Amino acid sequence: MLEVYALSGGYLELEVAMMVPDRPAGSRWTVPVPAFLVVHRAGRLLFDTGLHCATIADPVGRLGEDRARRMPVRSRAGDDVVSQLALLGLGPDDVTHVANSHFHFDHCGGNEFFPRSTFLVQRKELEAARDPAVLAGRRYVPSPVDFDHPLAYQPVNGEHDVFGDGTVVLIPTYGHTPGRQSLRVRAGTSVDLVLAADACYTRENMDRDILPTVLWDAPEMARSLVRLRDLRDRQGVTIVFGHDPAQWEKLPRAPEPFAAG
Ligand SMILES: [Zn+2]
Repeated sequence: MLEVYALSGGYLELEVAMMVPDRPAGSRWTVPVPAFLVVHRAGRLLFDTGLHCATIADPVGRLGEDRARRMPVRSRAGDDVVSQLALLGLGPDDVTHVANSHFHFDHCGGNEFFPRSTFLVQRKELEAARDPAVLAGRRYVPSPVDFDHPLAYQPVNGEHDVFGDGTVVLIPTYGHTPGRQSLRVRAGTSVDLVLAADACYTRENMDRDILPTVLWDAPEMARSLVRLRDLRDRQGVTIVFGHDPAQWEKLPRAPEPFAAG
């Protein structure tokens, strides 16, 4: 028995053209910042930790003036992973593993609340996020205030089977950032999905083969997108997109499981 829960990690308003570059400038939308809890008999894995809860009351203090202006926080009270876990009767210490897809601020904001969890992050991501040469280039802007805490980071090299039975597997989908990863969850005959996070922001990016403006390595990201689309179109895998307002609207959210098998 395995269950997957969709948790709200907040909401951000931003330019549509940041995600779908051929859309007209000036058009804005509010996108979800999803996180997911996978409940397995051997443990509980949180995939991404959303925005830090302090971004609601003090967005400028937490995100800085420029980012808070470009991407205003539209979360409501309770749109943070710790509050969302509480909907399931769980606290941070019930989470055995956290996997960050990558270290952008909206994917690791809640990391500090999980001091007892094992963090599974691609080695390439861990190294890039602390590499002065990468940081100087400004093409990848990780968020040290969010990830750089004394947490139990365990580097992962490529594909990683979290519980050893093939049901919960981290898959490298690099490109958006140097060491970005997705999570594939398979259980029984009813569950086969990939939590793509920022390997693909929206369905439109996948259907129209469009990369966003925010990326580290375009050819690498294009290869990751093709790989995910093949999983969807050839193997019938459900892709959960990174910030897709239309898909999020339809997804059953905690405390209801959105997948179980
Ligand atoms: Zn990102």
